[in-house]
Amino acid sequence: MEDTYKHKGLRKQLVEQIKKKGISNPAVLSAINKVPRHLFMDSSFLEFAYEDKPFPIGSGQTISQPYTVAVQTELLEIKKGDKILEVGTGSGYQACILMEMGARVYTIERQKNLYIKTKSLLASMNYKPKSISYGDGYKGLPAYAPFDKIIVTAGAPYTPDELIEQLKPGGYLVIPVGVDLQEMKRFIKLDKNNIKEENHGTFRFVPLLSNKADD
Ligand code: SAH
Repeated sequence: MEDTYKHKGLRKQLVEQIKKKGISNPAVLSAINKVPRHLFMDSSFLEFAYEDKPFPIGSGQTISQPYTVAVQTELLEIKKGDKILEVGTGSGYQACILMEMGARVYTIERQKNLYIKTKSLLASMNYKPKSISYGDGYKGLPAYAPFDKIIVTAGAPYTPDELIEQLKPGGYLVIPVGVDLQEMKRFIKLDKNNIKEENHGTFRFVPLLSNKADD
């Protein structure tokens, strides 16, 4: 599928909207301007790809609202070469935003059909994650830990200890915590025993699935 002038124009307008909502980091805005979000959505939703809204991507899941992607990405304070774990690959859009900013991305997805679909989509694009795994993100990704930053893109009922453990000292965990509504939390691992916790507003995510049977 192509990235036309029309798509590029709509993306510029989307960036303006997100700016107005308070996102100021130029690297985040530039990544949203560059990654063609319409390629991550089912074709029936193409015309909506550049509205600032979440949309269904199959298996009862959604591609996050661009503003939400921008908030989480801004909170991660990405530096080139950062090693990032993303819990909840979904469509792959958030992972590509992080890669566009120069991060090395490891991503994990709990639903097999989404994992398979997104793995093959990314193989056809120029964005190459370090790894795409099928598994339970509550456990993190011990085989590749520790990480500079971890982002969770589904609503977690609580903050899994494993994710804090898999952060490097100085690392950040950005995670929406709550059941119906979530508080966007950022944990900063000052050192092994000292964790700083911040709140960054209320959001609504699809739930982080626990004890899900294998597909
Ligand atoms: N980052 C995605 C957003 C997807 S929505 C994007 O840019 O499109 C959240 C995703 O988390 C869904 O795909 C869902 O299947 C996945 N998920 C839910 N529970 C999970 C778990 N325990 N481990 C890993 N992924 C999970």
